[in-house]
Formats: sequence, structure tokens, C-alpha cells
Amino acid sequence: MERARKILHVDLDAFFCAVEEQLDPSLKGKPFAVGGDPNQRGVVSSCSYAARRLGVHSAMPMSQAVRVCPGLLIVHGGHHLYREKSEEVMAILRNWTPLMEPVSIDEAFLDVSDIPKDGRMIALEIQKEINSRIVLPCSFGVASNKLVAKIANTIGKKKSKSGSYPNAVTQVLPGSEAAFLAPLPIGELWGVGDRTEKLLRDLGICRIGQLASYPSGHLSKIFGRHAGSMRDRALGLDDRPVDPDPQEAKSVSQECTFAQDVDDESLLRKTILHQSDQIGFRLRKYGLCGNTVRLKLRWSNFVTLSRQIKLDQRICQNDWINLHAQNLFTDIWQKESRPIRLIGVGVSGLSPEPVQLSLFQQPSDKIDRLLQAVDEIRIRYGEKGLKRGIELEEESF
Ligand SMILES: [Mg+2]
Repeated sequence: MERARKILHVDLDAFFCAVEEQLDPSLKGKPFAVGGDPNQRGVVSSCSYAARRLGVHSAMPMSQAVRVCPGLLIVHGGHHLYREKSEEVMAILRNWTPLMEPVSIDEAFLDVSDIPKDGRMIALEIQKEINSRIVLPCSFGVASNKLVAKIANTIGKKKSKSGSYPNAVTQVLPGSEAAFLAPLPIGELWGVGDRTEKLLRDLGICRIGQLASYPSGHLSKIFGRHAGSMRDRALGLDDRPVDPDPQEAKSVSQECTFAQDVDDESLLRKTILHQSDQIGFRLRKYGLCGNTVRLKLRWSNFVTLSRQIKLDQRICQNDWINLHAQNLFTDIWQKESRPIRLIGVGVSGLSPEPVQLSLFQQPSDKIDRLLQAVDEIRIRYGEKGLKRGIELEEESF
């Protein structure tokens, strides 16, 4: 079994409001909102906890906010200042670990598995540092993965009864992820938007635990090919790494969580073939080829294996990717053939296809070539082209 990771989710509390209070301490404790003009269809981007108690929330039209909270003070806000403060916070986080992934201006994930201290203690120390050096309140979720850390943080903040900034630290211990999620409302789960929530509630699924134990056949009817990954989420399973450079396409991969565990070898091999085809297509589309083929498997007892082979040439052809992935599968299957819940193929060690290299000066090292590949993608497909690869990789989460 893989060692349990220690993942922190950090979120600055009512970030824009907290910065505005630093600038104008007379705002402290008052109901106020940062955002646009109520007469010009402005919306609330952030609101103080005093305003929240009176029914204001972010993303609400400012005109409505003023109606529910007549004395509401409106601050227009200075976005360059928020950016500056955010960068100061991110610098502190990066000092704790290079495995820091910013998610938005006021949110980040940290992988602190290598720090030999309890996750909660680490969170408290980082919180103290941000509270004292940047003078900003912040909350933490601590868990063995990103999904549970993020939900823990949301729930911990909601539970805070301080009436002011929560400055909460909420930990979910390894092994208790599913039990933590089970009683929570279904809408707290990632991937369950308003429409899905309504659909699930109509089926009597109101709590995350009910989704986790729903018969998989029925689940497939609701979520189609996402059924397996939705159930994994409901169980609190998520093995996406904290990625410090989400902008860079470092690997192309495809994985599939079966709605029901599979031990049919031909179906497993067909799945690998299909995934190899999709990866080959995407590599060629982005003008990339890679020198490492990886196969990932998860048994029905959630133990996860990953095997890879490094080749002495770079490839992007479906057949070659499939051949190596099938060989990796054979190695594992000959030793142990039992039901599998997840299977995935990936290609890494990416660089541009040789034919494109000739268009440019021969780059000196691997990193140059990777950057060149990323640039080429941007040139040829725009930001969207690059994002698509990353999104596809995340799709299986
Ligand atoms: Mg926030």
C-alpha cells in the first residue's frame, strides 16, 4: 500500500475584505462587501463575516445584497493590491515546500508528506506565520488527499462560530475519509453541481455516504462512464498529485475507473488499447512524443500499482504505446490476476516530434525542448490547446 500523503488545502478567509480592513481599520466588524456598483449590475466578489450573517454572499448581485442588508457598505477594491498580497502568501507557502499548487488568488494545495510532523501541527505553524507576517486570516484543511483536504476546509470554515474570520484548521485522519464524508450533504462533493444535486436528491441520495453505497449498476445509469470516479470521490479517494506547475504538459494520460471491478483479461486489454489510441492521437495533435510508457492499476482492495518502461527512443504511435502498455500489463497479470477497479496508461518524458525540431535551433537540454513543445502548442493551438491536455488528464479524477 502506498504511504499516506499529507495534503493541506489553504484558503484565505474573505481575502479581499481582510485586505480592505488592513487599509481602513474602521471597516472592522462592519457589514461590507467588495464588488461593483449596485446600479451597474455589479456583483459581490467578497463580503465581510458581519455581512454574511445578514444574508449577503459572494457572487450575489450587489443590488440584491443592498436589499437584504440595507446598511451594507460597498468598497470597490484594488485588485493590484490583492495580487501583491496573494504573492506574499504564496511565497511563504513555497518556503514550506516546493510542492505547492496555487488554485486561485487565495487558495493553494501543499504536499507536506516529507515534513516529519503531524499535518495539523504544520497547518497551525503556517497559519501563525501568515497571521503574523501578512496579517491575514486563513483556514486549512488537512487530509491524505486534495479532495478531502478541500472539503474538510469548507466544512471547518462553515462550522466556525466566531462570527468573524474562521481561521480554522480541520483535519481528517487517514482511514477516516469515507466516514468523514458520509454524513455531509451531497452538494459538498466535487463534481456535483446544482443540476446533478437535484437529480440525486430526487433519487433519495441526499448524503455523500448514500452515493458511496448506491448500487453501481444504477450509478452507471446516472453518471455513465463517470460512475466509477464519482463513487471513488464519494468514498474520499483521490490520488491526483499536488502539481506545482499545472501550466506545463508533463505527461499525457488516460485512466478509467470501472463501475464494477473487472477481471476479464480481454476487456482489460481492450481498455488499454483504447487508452493507447487516445494518447497517441493527443500526442500527435500537440506535436509531442515521449520516451516513457506507464501503466497504472488499482485492485479491488484499493492497492495501486504503477509500472513504467523507459525507452531509448521517443514515440507517439498508438501501436507502440499499446505494445509497451500491454507488456507492462502482462508482467503484472502473470503474477497476479484479480479484479481491477482502475486502469490507466500514460506517456511522459515528452518533447516535440523530431520533424518539428528541425524548424528550430537544436535545443540544448530536455527542459528547453519541453518548453519549446509547450510554446509550439501555444502557437499552434492557443492556450486552449494546452489546457485541453491537462483537463483530459484530470477528467478521470
Ligand atoms: Mg477564500
